[in-house]
Amino acid sequence: MTMQALVWTGNHNVTVRDQPQPIPADGWVLVDVAYCGLCGTDLHICAGEHPRSKPGLVIGHEISGTVHADRAGFAAGTKVVVDPLLPCGACPPCRNRRPHTCASLRLIGIDVPGGAARQVAVPADRLIPAPDTADLRQLAFAEPLAVAVRAVRRSGLRLGEQVVVAGAGPVGLAVATCARLAGAATVVVAEPLPVRRKLAANLGFEIVETFAGLSADVFFDAAGHPSVAAGMTAVAAPTSRIILVGVYGMPTTVDLQAATFKELTIIGSRVYSRDDIRTATEMIATGRFDAEPFLTRTVPLDGAASAIDELRAGREVKVLVEGAA
Ligand SMILES: [Zn+2]
Ligand SMILES: [Zn+2]
Repeated sequence: MTMQALVWTGNHNVTVRDQPQPIPADGWVLVDVAYCGLCGTDLHICAGEHPRSKPGLVIGHEISGTVHADRAGFAAGTKVVVDPLLPCGACPPCRNRRPHTCASLRLIGIDVPGGAARQVAVPADRLIPAPDTADLRQLAFAEPLAVAVRAVRRSGLRLGEQVVVAGAGPVGLAVATCARLAGAATVVVAEPLPVRRKLAANLGFEIVETFAGLSADVFFDAAGHPSVAAGMTAVAAPTSRIILVGVYGMPTTVDLQAATFKELTIIGSRVYSRDDIRTATEMIATGRFDAEPFLTRTVPLDGAASAIDELRAGREVKVLVEGAA
């Protein structure tokens, strides 16, 4: 049996082609994909820039779907969100119950076949069930939302604090929304790209081109850009917190003298724990987080290769690929 899938074939080449239908190993479950979001990580993979991905990979790690057949305690048709993390289970962080900081963390859609396909195989313990009433389209946003949930939890945000978020991509805007839900007095979003600025304004955030001159009790770096690193300690108020959400590909310059003189706390935030993605799933399923405005485009699997180009050109915020539906 074969199925259609979005495959990175090496260099800058992405194509929709027939792949063998995944055969779930022991303890794994076959999921009929409903929707799969594409993000900056997928763009890196599809540019041949990801250090772990191998050509021939089915991409996609932001997955919602339904269980294909009764298996491993899951009934056929159960709505699920996929937690795509594959921790090794043996290293010190894994043994200390911090598997999301696993020394050799792998992901579905990066290291093993992903969800931009009709079907995907997932370990049963990586499936988060959602209620029947939940919207599968919105549930595809649970994974990026989980990144925001973790970042805001890591920040220890308190009622009435002033928040600045650098970067209005899907994660930055989800961070801004979670910060508002958590009781921030003000949330200012800094972003140069027009399509993202427009969405930030629609969501009711104050939007600036650059954060220079602002003052933050909590500063979220959701851009991972050297210009943000260079300026963030100036924006951070004395004794404030800086949360690193965006991932830097290489070492970058930070004014550590300012960090010392202001007694800043700089906090790393890596993907999400199981509790974070479960919370994100619940926030969407209950309607407390409306993902709809973030989902700027949905494409059929056949059109998914062009969606990569749209994302690359900065014309969309979040593109979803339709799976088995
Ligand atoms: Zn992603
Ligand atoms: Zn590990």
